[in-house]
Amino acid sequence: MAKYSFKCADTGQNCAFETKASTKEELMPLIANHAKTAHNMTEISPEVMEKVNSVIKKSFF
Ligand SMILES: [Zn+2]
Repeated sequence: MAKYSFKCADTGQNCAFETKASTKEELMPLIANHAKTAHNMTEISPEVMEKVNSVIKKSFF
């Protein structure tokens, strides 16, 4: 099964947060929640969303 993983540091933040989920649909809310609680981003701008999407890694483990 594919796994999608996200590292906050890959977006340029000085932050150790990382998370993973089996689908992108599950991963996105986890990232959004982290952005809100840790980085005070109450909404995700298209620019941030694009950056997030570009650093999400897909693996098969
Ligand atoms: Zn972070």
